[in-house]
Formats: sequence, C-alpha cells, structure tokens
Amino acid sequence: MHSQFFSMKLATKIIHAGAEPDPSTGAIMTPIYQTSTYVQSAPGVNKGYEYARSQNPTRKALEEAFAVIENGKHGLAFSSGVAATDAVIKLLSSGDEVIAGSDMYGGTYRLFTKVFERFGVKFIFVDTADVKNIANAVTPKTKLIWIETPTNPLMSITDISAVAAVSKKAGALLCVDNTFATPYLQNPLDLGADIVMHSATKYLGGHSDVIQGALVMNDDALREKLYFIQKSCGAVPGPMDCFLVLRGIKTLHVRMKQHNENGYVVAHFLRKHPKIDKVYWCGFHDHPNYNIAKVQMRGFGGMMSFTLKDDSVEAAVKVLSSTKLFSLAESLGGVESLINHPASMTHASIPREERIKNGLTDGLIRLSVGIEDADDLIEDLKQAIG
Ligand SMILES: *Cc1c(COP(=O)(O)O)cnc(C)c1O
Repeated sequence: MHSQFFSMKLATKIIHAGAEPDPSTGAIMTPIYQTSTYVQSAPGVNKGYEYARSQNPTRKALEEAFAVIENGKHGLAFSSGVAATDAVIKLLSSGDEVIAGSDMYGGTYRLFTKVFERFGVKFIFVDTADVKNIANAVTPKTKLIWIETPTNPLMSITDISAVAAVSKKAGALLCVDNTFATPYLQNPLDLGADIVMHSATKYLGGHSDVIQGALVMNDDALREKLYFIQKSCGAVPGPMDCFLVLRGIKTLHVRMKQHNENGYVVAHFLRKHPKIDKVYWCGFHDHPNYNIAKVQMRGFGGMMSFTLKDDSVEAAVKVLSSTKLFSLAESLGGVESLINHPASMTHASIPREERIKNGLTDGLIRLSVGIEDADDLIEDLKQAIG
C-alpha cells in the first residue's frame, strides 16, 4: 500500500508516511477522528470502518507511518508499550517458552514473570550480548526470542542478524524492542527480526506527553494474528494520542540527530570526570560490542548510564537530587533531559539479587540526554556531581 516510500530516504518517509490529505476536506493533517462508531448505509455496508476498537482513521494513518519508518509492511498501534508487548506474548500458548534478555525494561520483566508465567508461558533470561547463550537455551518449545538492543539501562548490544539466524533455525519468532535505538538508528526487520516493538511513549512521541506502543511486521499472517489480538483484547490508543504520535514522528530525524550529538558530548564528559567510575554508552570504541553497534546502528543516541566511584546509594541520590536541567523522572526519549535511578524507579520491579547479578547496581544512574544546548547540560552535571 505504501510502496511509493520504498525508494525514499528516512527523512522524507518520516514527514510523509501516513499523511494523506483528508478525503472529505483536504485537511493536510489527519484529523482526530473522535468517534466510537460509524454509520452504515445498510447492515454490513460500510466505508471500511465499523467500530473504533477495530478501526479508526487517525490510528490507521499512524499505523501506516509506523510501518513505513521501520521498513515494514504492517504497523499496529497499542495503548502503551507494555500493551504492545502483551499482544506479542498472547501469540503464545501455555507450555511455550520465550528466551529473553537478562537486562531489560523492568515493566517487560514484570509482565513476563508476574502475569504470563501464571498462564504457563515459561521465560528463560540470558545475556543476549553473547548469541551462544540464546542458542544454548533453545528447546523444541521455544516459540519466541525477545531482545532489547541497546538494553535498558546497561546499554548492552546484541547482534540482531546473528539472533535472527538462531530464531529461524529454531522455528521461533524474533521480536526486537527498538525503543532505545528508534528507526533513525536501527531497523531490526532489515536484519531479520519478525516483529519490531516500540514504546512510542519515548522517542517516537518525543515530547513526554503521551503513552503509546507500536508493533511493526512484514508477514501478512502474523499481522492478521496480531490485529486479531489488538481488536479482541482492546488495548488500542485513542485518536488524540495517535495524532500526537503522528506529529511527534515528523521531527524524529532532527531530534535524533541532536540526541546523538549531545549524547556523544555528555558521554565523553562523564568518562573524563574524576568522580565517575563506569560509563555505559554504546558509542565508546572500547564498549564490549562496539563492533556490532557500529554495523547495525547509524549512531549511538542519547541514552547512557553511569556509576560513581563512591557506589553508595547516598552518593547517587545526592547527584539525582542536585541536577536542575536534568529532571528526576522515569521515562526517556523526550526533548528534555531526564535523570533516573533504575534500582528504585524504572527497574524496581526486578528483584534486587537479579538486578545486581546482571550489573544493575544500587548506585547506577541513567540519563536520557535531551536536545537542549550541550554546554548547559554539561554545566548542570558538573555542579550536580561536584
Ligand atoms: C518504556 C519502555 C517500555 C514500556 O513502554 P510503555 O509505553 O511505558 O508501556 C518498553 N520497553 C522499553 C525499552 C521502554 O523504555
């Protein structure tokens, strides 16, 4: 349907994907179709829209945009990132196994272990940075491999093409949570993934004003199954939220360019700071998987984490409470810079022992570097770290 976009560059696709002038008025921006139902001229005779849980024109435009920017055939929008994840797991049945990364967003871990394990789906967590760990965990029951790359919050990189080879051999689906990288930096479908998932709440929306999720896939049958789950389970976003994300996507490329530049500057500043121990950012040449990051990504983004030499909670709390431009908040990917304490905030739902085993210490601080002037961000961090 959107084949005219195949030959275009990302910046053009971002602006034009899903943006057909409104057929009834010519409005250049897709209107917010705030309606729950659609009038039929005779029973079963309609214009392709029956009920807004199943179809909505604003959502349709956005789903088209999701597909185009991820080089996929089909997009589906959900009421949150975890609702999109939830839909993917609902492809499975009791007794099926999922291999997932041991460093991942805390809410995904909670959904897997606290909700779906009760329904008999089994989750095996491994360090996916070493693809052998995934291959070794495959059994005849493996139906899905779930990875984040870069991971939240330790910025570990997994080789998507190598995992895709493992998933194909196992006859399992590969889903990549592409929230951190965004399609500006990485396109998992091009590397062999079956499904791309996004928390559109983050970079796609980009302005910290909406909660939303996305799935993108190429396979028609897989799209039908996921669409069936979307309309049957009902976790759909409202038209206003779809409008906001459509609008957010239009500046994704210019925002990401600045996130990249600022991320580079802040990561190098932190690394040279005498009070700082480790900095986790996938653009450093000595990052353990830099060679893979360099090949599968087009830049390294504005997400990073660090620890202080004094790795006590007190020292971390002092920094977290002292920044003035970096706001202390969960979430990421907005135009404004945020600072976060994963152990007590975004990743509090992961048991402490599990966290520490994976390297997520009590003192770890995560930054979402925004698109303010980098000099001001550095000044703010300087005064906060002291
Ligand atoms: C925020 C986030 C999610 C969950 O998305 P919501 O929109 O908050 O439901 C999933 N994965 C990653 C990497 C995230 O950062």
